[in-house]
Amino acid sequence: MTTRRDFLRSAGLLTAAAAILNPFELFAQRGGKALNGSKGGSKTMVLTYTPYDAQLRHVFTIANSSRTTTQLVLTEIAWDGYVGYGEASMPPYLGETQASVIDFLKKIDLSRFSSPFEIQDILAYVDAIASNNTAAKAAVDIALHDLVGKLIGQPWWKIWGFNPATTPNTSFTIGLDTEEVVKEKTREASPYKVIKVKLGKDEATDKMMINTIRSVTDTVICVDANQGWKDKHYALEMINWLNEKNVNMIEQPMPKLLLDEAAWITENSPLPIIADEACQRLTDIYKLKGAYNGINIKLMKCTGMREARDMVTLAKSFHMKIMIGCMTETSCAISAAAQIAPETEWADLDGNLLIANDVFKGMLIVDGKVTLSDLPGIGAVKL
Ligand code: MG
Repeated sequence: MTTRRDFLRSAGLLTAAAAILNPFELFAQRGGKALNGSKGGSKTMVLTYTPYDAQLRHVFTIANSSRTTTQLVLTEIAWDGYVGYGEASMPPYLGETQASVIDFLKKIDLSRFSSPFEIQDILAYVDAIASNNTAAKAAVDIALHDLVGKLIGQPWWKIWGFNPATTPNTSFTIGLDTEEVVKEKTREASPYKVIKVKLGKDEATDKMMINTIRSVTDTVICVDANQGWKDKHYALEMINWLNEKNVNMIEQPMPKLLLDEAAWITENSPLPIIADEACQRLTDIYKLKGAYNGINIKLMKCTGMREARDMVTLAKSFHMKIMIGCMTETSCAISAAAQIAPETEWADLDGNLLIANDVFKGMLIVDGKVTLSDLPGIGAVKL
C-alpha cells in the first residue's frame, strides 16, 4: 500500500512538505518511523518485571566486601505494540533487593498516563512514590526511555544531540586479589586502554596491586579507593605515589561524609579527585562543588537516564568533570548508561563484561572505546 510519505517521496515533494510539518514530526519521520505508526497494541502502558541473578565471572572484592552474584530485576514497559526494556541492579551496599524493587514496582500505576511521551510527569510520579529505591526507579526510567526512543525511531544520544565520536575509552575493573589473580586479570584486560583498580585496603596490599599490574602493563590506571583511606595525609601520600605510576584519577579516596577532607585532598592532589559514593543524585552536586573535581554518575544511584542527563548539565555548569559508571549489570542498563558517554571524561562501563549470563546485546567496546550504535532507544536487543 502506498503511504502518504511514499507518495510525497516519489513525487519529490518530501522536502517541500517538510516545511509545513512541525519539526518533531519531521524528525520522527526521518527516523524511519512515524510517531503515529501504531502497531495496534494496547494504548495503556503495561509494566512487567522479572527477578534475575547475574552470575559473576570472578569473585568480586572491594574494600569492604566480596560476592559471586548480583541481584537484578528486569523490567518491560509495553505500549501500542512496542516494548521498552529496563533493569535494576542491586549490589548489597545500596540496600535494595529483588523483593524491595518488586514491592516498589507493584505500587506504580502507569494507566493514569495517556502516553509514554509524558516522560517528565511519569518519572516525577514514580520518584514521589517513596524515597530512595533508586535502582527500582531506574528500572522504570530505562524501560520508558527505551520505549520512547523506539517510538521515535532514534537512540537517546541522538535525541539529546550528543556527538558519538566523543565517547571515552572504557576502563576494565580489577578488584582486590592475590598477586597471581591480579596478573591474570591484567592480561585479560589487555584489549582495554584503561584499567580501573580497586584499592583502599592497607598500604602493602594497595601497593602490591599497583606494582603487580605494572609488572604486566603500562596501561593507564584509574584508582577507586571506595572510601577505604581513613586519613587525609595518608590518602595524599598514596595519591602522590600513584601519580608516579601512570594513574590518571582517584575515585572516592575517603568516606563520603568527610567533605572537608575531600576538599583538602582535592586542593593538594596532583590528580583529579572524583566523588562516587558521595554523589548519588542531582542535588548532591551542589555540596560537592569545590570539594571534588568531578562526579561519577551511575543510573542505579540517580534513578536513571532523565536525572543522569540533568546531572551532566549541572556538573558541567560547575566545571566539574564527569565519569559514567555502572554496577554489575546486563547490556541493557550498560547500553542505557552509554547514551550519556559522549559528554563524559571517563567511562567505567564494564558491568556486563563481568557477568557470565548476559541476556542483552548492546553497546560495544571497539578498540577500548565506548561505541554507540544507531539502534533506537537505549540501543540494546534482548537475546
Ligand atoms: Mg566507585
